[in-house]
Amino acid sequence: MLNKQDDTKPVIALAAINTDEEIRLKSSSGGIFTLLAEKIIANEGVIFGAAFNKNWEVHHEEGATIEDLCKFRGSKYVQSKIENSYKRTEYFLKEGKEVLFSGTPCQIAGLKCFLQKDYLNLTTVDFICHGVPSPGIWEWYLKNHIFTKTNTSSKLKDINFRDKTFGWQNYRLAFQFKSHTPILSANNTNGYMLAFLNDICLRPSCYKCPTKKGSSHSDITIADFWGINEFNIEMDDNKGTSLVLINTKKGVELIKEIKMQSKKVSIDKALALNQSWKKSAKPHELRNLFYKQYKKHESDFTSFTQDLIHTKSITKRVIRKIFRTLGYNQLPI
Ligand SMILES: Cc1cc2nc3c(=O)[nH]c(=O)nc-3n(C[C@H](O)[C@H](O)[C@H](O)COP(=O)(O)OP(=O)(O)OC[C@H]3O[C@@H](n4cnc5c(N)ncnc54)[C@H](O)[C@@H]3O)c2cc1C
Repeated sequence: MLNKQDDTKPVIALAAINTDEEIRLKSSSGGIFTLLAEKIIANEGVIFGAAFNKNWEVHHEEGATIEDLCKFRGSKYVQSKIENSYKRTEYFLKEGKEVLFSGTPCQIAGLKCFLQKDYLNLTTVDFICHGVPSPGIWEWYLKNHIFTKTNTSSKLKDINFRDKTFGWQNYRLAFQFKSHTPILSANNTNGYMLAFLNDICLRPSCYKCPTKKGSSHSDITIADFWGINEFNIEMDDNKGTSLVLINTKKGVELIKEIKMQSKKVSIDKALALNQSWKKSAKPHELRNLFYKQYKKHESDFTSFTQDLIHTKSITKRVIRKIFRTLGYNQLPI
């Protein structure tokens, strides 16, 4: 368990957009992570971030080329396994290489605990984090809902948790296959996304996150600029806008070197619109029940999750189940 460090407030808040449309569309919000990473690569540095492995599990990897950045691009809504990335970071730092380490606020705080000292050649980037689902659920979901459709994981070509085909605000979870039509599901019709967004399957530590309010001490925090429409700054085109919170002098220097479309905004107003910066998610009251039962719901995972989420009390769930069994589509509660 990480110890709580001091809270810190950003020194600058920006609304920002990567002007390369293709990269922005492939990124979860405004594509700012790629710009930061490109700068470090131009200086012959190394990037660490979350990527899929060959079994589509999420773990931290390193990369040192522009091509490598594709694997980091896009939010993966599952806890990324750190594996040996802290050790590798330390190795490159001691070699004198510039390193950009990106991850959740707790992964940044963990890296700092591991390193035990500050390095001038280390820049850290985290994001405002809602919380991460457990890898166990993700791996179960993939095996039972995706791989069974295609027989094997090798037929899967890409997974995008934030497909923007229907716009940034209306993002979908998308699976692309080598020889199968893509699966694109809206968040309210996908059991996995429903469970994630309704806080029923986050890691226990996410509900009491010790790295809120800037206490990871990252140099830069990136986020979705939900509420950009309230700022009236013509950066609301539904293709993705980032909120960039600059927390340190090193962050200020790096941002100065990056070409992007950006506008300064009020720090307090931007933070007020993104509650996950300061507050942990609240555990869904049926979380324990979800964990006890989800493996029995291979065939009806989405309706099982929908039921838990919409009807918090057990009595209401039983009534809904009876009505459904009797063939009623309009449920009374
Ligand atoms: C689990 C999770 C929860 C989030 N919750 C919120 C939220 O509540 N509010 C909000 O405004 N923004 C949230 N975000 C951040 C947001 O979705 C974007 O990732 C962020 O704005 C960066 O977008 P981008 O377009 O600049 O770059 P992108 O290319 O989309 O960002 C990719 C970066 O995210 C890192 N990353 C992706 N998945 C993971 C992961 N599982 N673990 C660690 N690092 C990862 C990559 O290493 C890379 O650095 C969350 C992201 C994740 C992964």
